[in-house]
Amino acid sequence: MTYKIKNYINGQFTDAQGGGKVNNVNPATGKSIGSIPMSTSADVDEAVKAAKQAFVIWSKTTPEQRFRVMNKIADLIESKLDELALAETLDNGKPLKLSKRVDIPRASDNFRFFATSIMHYASDSHIMEGKAINYTMRQPIGVVGCISPWNLPLYLFTWKIAPAIAAGNCVIAKPSEVTPVTAFLLSQICEEAGLPKGVLNILHGDGASCGSEIVKHKEIRAISFTGSTRAGAHIASIAAPVFKKLSLELGGKNPTLVFADCDWDKMMKTIVHSSFANQGQICLCGSRILVEQSVYEKFKEEFIARVTKLKVGDPLSDDTNQGAVVSQMHFDKVMSCIALAKEEGGKILLGGDAVKLDGENKDGLFIAPTIIENLGPNCRTNQEEIFGPVVTIQPFETKEEALTLANATDYGLACSVWTQDISRAHTLANQLESGIVWINCWLLRDLRTPFGGMKNSGVGREGGWNALNFFTEPKNVCVQM
Ligand code: NAD
Repeated sequence: MTYKIKNYINGQFTDAQGGGKVNNVNPATGKSIGSIPMSTSADVDEAVKAAKQAFVIWSKTTPEQRFRVMNKIADLIESKLDELALAETLDNGKPLKLSKRVDIPRASDNFRFFATSIMHYASDSHIMEGKAINYTMRQPIGVVGCISPWNLPLYLFTWKIAPAIAAGNCVIAKPSEVTPVTAFLLSQICEEAGLPKGVLNILHGDGASCGSEIVKHKEIRAISFTGSTRAGAHIASIAAPVFKKLSLELGGKNPTLVFADCDWDKMMKTIVHSSFANQGQICLCGSRILVEQSVYEKFKEEFIARVTKLKVGDPLSDDTNQGAVVSQMHFDKVMSCIALAKEEGGKILLGGDAVKLDGENKDGLFIAPTIIENLGPNCRTNQEEIFGPVVTIQPFETKEEALTLANATDYGLACSVWTQDISRAHTLANQLESGIVWINCWLLRDLRTPFGGMKNSGVGREGGWNALNFFTEPKNVCVQM
C-alpha cells in the first residue's frame, strides 16, 4: 500500500512549490509507503492567501451552517473507519485494533463535538444596575495555525482543527512529517463533505521548513501547537514578541501513585495500559510509577508478570498488544534512554532490548516493554521525557513523600492516583502539580473538560469552551442606559 500525499490548498491537491519531497516509511516493516511534499514559505504564503479569502465568507456563516458541514465530515470519518485505521497503523506502527478503537473514532468525535458545541456557544453580558449593559462578543480570529505531533496523528490533528473552524476561523494545519497519511485522507474527506475551499488548508513538511514558517507568518494570528517542550519553547520565542495567541500542549513525565489500599485488580489492569498503551507514546502515559513501600515487592512481581504477557508483534495482527515505535530516530532515542538508565545505576527488571520479528516485520522498529527500578527522582531517566515503552518504579513510605516524588519534575501534564481513601485522594488532587488528575482511572476523557498541562507541559487549555475561547477574540461592548 502506498499513498501519494499532496498538500491541500484552496481546495486543490498540489505538490510543494519547491518540488521537495521526503520518503515516508512504515516503521513496522521499514518499507516506504510513499512520499510527502516538503512545503516551504511559498506554500505557506499561498495557503494564507486562500484562507484569508475564504475567511470573508466563512466568518459570516451561521453556526448551523458550520455544524452541518462538520457533522458531515464526522459521518465520513466514521464511514471510512477501516481505511483510516489501516492508514494510521501503516504510518505510525500502532496496533490496528488501537487505531480502530481509539484514534479514528476519536477523530470523528472531535468534529461531532465541536460541530454541536458551536450551536450552544453563548457569550456573557454584565449589567451595571441602572447605568449600563455590557455584552461580550466572541469573534473568530481570522487565519490560525494548527501544528500536531505523530503519536495520535488524526486524533490530535482534528482536536485542533475542529474547534478552529467551528468558531469561524480559516486554518493552516500541519500534521507531523512522520505520520502524514490520515491528514491527507482528511483533506479528501473535507472535499467530499463540501467544506468551502480555503477554510482548511493542510500543508505537509517538517518543523524547520514548514512549521516554523507557519509560526512566523504575520497574517496567522494564533497558533495551537501540540508537540515537544523543546519545539514549544522555540515557537513561543517567535510568537510571543509579535503577540500571537498561543496554545501549547507539550511533553510530560507523568507519575502514577499506587497506595496499598487501592482496588488492586482494577489498578493492575489499568496500569499496564497507562504505562505501555501505544508503545508508551501517549503524552498522558504514566512513566514514573510510585508505589507504597508495603506493597512494593508484590506490585513489582505482579506488574512484571502482566507486562511479560504483552505481545510485541505485527501491528496488523489481532493478538498484538505492542506495535512498532514510530521512526528510526525515535527508536534510537528510546534505546539511548535505556542505555542511560543503565549508566545511572538503573536495574532493568524487564525488557531493555529491541525485539526482532520475522517475515514482513524483520526490519521493523520494535522495543520490548521495559521496567526499571533503583533510580532516584533526580536522575535524567526520571526527569526527561522518554516517550516510549519504558517506565521506572520507585517506592515511597508516606503520602507526603509520594507527593514530593510526584511533583519532582519540571513537567506537570497528567497523573493518576490509586487509593480507596477518599480524603487522601482529594488532598493529593489539590496538591499535585498537574493539569489533569485521574483518581482510580486513567485516560477517562470528557471532551468538555479543560485539557493541558502546568509547568513545562504547556500554556493554556484545550477542550470544550476553552478551545472555542482560544479560537475567538472577546470584544466587550458597553452601552450606557
Ligand atoms: P515535535 O515537537 O518534534 O513535533 C511536533 C510538530 O511540530 C510536528 O508537526 C513538527 O513538524 C512540528 N515542529 C517541530 N519543530 C517546529 C518548529 N520549530 N516550529 C514549528 N513547528 C515545529 O514533537 P513530536 O516528536 O512530533 O511529538 C512528541 C511530543 O509531543 C512529545 O513531547 C509528547 O509529549 C508531545 N505531546 C504532547 C501532547 C499534549 O497534549 N500535551 C499530546 C501528544 C504529544
